[in-house]
Amino acid sequence: MKELEEVLQDWEAVIGLEIHAELTTLHTKMFCSCPIEFGAEPNTHTCPVCLGLPGALPVPNKDAIRSIVKAGLATNCEIEKHSMFYRKGYFYPDMAKNFQTTQGPVAFCMRGHLDLEVEGKAALERPDIEKDADGGYVAHVGITRIHMEEDAGKMTHLGGAEGRIDGADRSLVDYNRAGTPLIELVTEPDLRSPEEARLFMQKLRQIYLAIGISDCSMEEGSMRCDGNVSLRRRGAKEFGIKTELKNMNSFKNLHDGLAYEICRQAEVLEEGGIIYQETRHWEPGAKRTIVMRVKETADDYRMFPDPDLAPFDLSDEFIEGVRAELPELPDEKRDRFIAEHGLPKADAAAIAGDVAMAELFDTAAEGLEDGEAKKLANILLNDLSAWANENNATVADLAASPAHLASLAKLLAADTISSKQGKEVIAAIIADDVDPEAYVEEHGMKQTTDTGAIEQLVEQLMQENPDKVAAYRDGKKGLQGFFMGQIMKAMKGQGNPKVISKIVTDKLEG
Ligand code: ADP
Ligand code: ZN
Ligand code: MG
Repeated sequence: MKELEEVLQDWEAVIGLEIHAELTTLHTKMFCSCPIEFGAEPNTHTCPVCLGLPGALPVPNKDAIRSIVKAGLATNCEIEKHSMFYRKGYFYPDMAKNFQTTQGPVAFCMRGHLDLEVEGKAALERPDIEKDADGGYVAHVGITRIHMEEDAGKMTHLGGAEGRIDGADRSLVDYNRAGTPLIELVTEPDLRSPEEARLFMQKLRQIYLAIGISDCSMEEGSMRCDGNVSLRRRGAKEFGIKTELKNMNSFKNLHDGLAYEICRQAEVLEEGGIIYQETRHWEPGAKRTIVMRVKETADDYRMFPDPDLAPFDLSDEFIEGVRAELPELPDEKRDRFIAEHGLPKADAAAIAGDVAMAELFDTAAEGLEDGEAKKLANILLNDLSAWANENNATVADLAASPAHLASLAKLLAADTISSKQGKEVIAAIIADDVDPEAYVEEHGMKQTTDTGAIEQLVEQLMQENPDKVAAYRDGKKGLQGFFMGQIMKAMKGQGNPKVISKIVTDKLEG
């Protein structure tokens, strides 16, 4: 099979995503007051409504509607004031009602969009597009809709191989999750590369986390994504037949699964074959996609308006109330960090995209000069991020106080300590939240940039090596390195190379 880059020279990939998010931050289910709790004792959070017992009547969860409207406003959607719930035929034991309550042609949120900044290596997957001066471009991605629906229960198959239903002796069902509110966002087929798909998913996750509607855990399945993909010859207008990759549960799987599927489709088409509209499953281990089922049509679902639920009328007051609750979104934060602290765009975006990191940066950067704020950003993005990743935590779990981080940034920006010493101080802050000023004093680090002391050392060294000084002044400039090395050695590697180098050169030049 050809590599993705080669395939994309001849073919254009067309991708649309369907992204589900469970509204995990809510306390109760979509149409009943059963609590939402991950990992509770099976079937302890159920009632006649979510078990679909005859005569039980659903009552919509107002907070869930508030959450989906928030999601719509944060993704530039128009909020539909009049919409309703439908029943979608669904016959499988994990949903005792035998239908799923969902939305019809009109969803709460319609016609939105997000802009993706595609930069650096990620931009390479678009050979067709003109890049800006930094080698990137902006992809404008339409959002068809975000609708409300409910999750099914969870089935466990026992006795068979790999927990599959095939060959299982018994199947158990846990209805705790049945009826959990889910929102599904559907994009227009506007994405053109696996990287754009990954960036869209990442950006949406950052937004949902910022507005606090879901924990967006890809591992626990509270955020999951189906990727639809087709190919057309470069320059062609008609879309090709698409396949759908189900339940991509990480950014990497989404990217790699789509990349594989694009290459597979290209091979089939180039050999004169045809693509069937089917649902496929990406196997990351084997690096291939396999057929799950051929596509059912909308008619198979027997959708009709739910007679138990009255049509919705959202008031302007309700919508504006939700708008007023919207926090600063990641893109706005990024732009503010650039304007207020002069951060490089990529750093500003990375910090703004992480709620905990942005909060810490905001507090610690207050009152810092731009150069100091840059040092602070580096500490957050390199050292503290590494700590968070290793410990499966966020920077909010650190004991490091913002004031201590700020004072370390100042020491680094002023060259009072070297970046190597900075690493030692960061480690001490992470371990014990030490006060950097005191720590630097105690460990004698300050002297290393005490220019008076360094000057003395240099003068002494020059007196001991008059021949080398003369040779330098005769043009053997490389000897600067000898003096540097001797001073660094005398200072046991603790000296600040930048400061020392300047003093050595100044003295040698006389
Ligand atoms: P279906 O009827 O199969 O569910 P939809 O039109 O509802 O298809 O679209 C589902 C998803 O597939 C959307 O994200 C949409 O953008 C995407 N999509 C639609 N047509 C194509 C295509 N030809 N190639 C790639 N993606 C597509
Ligand atoms: Zn219930
Ligand atoms: Mg569809």
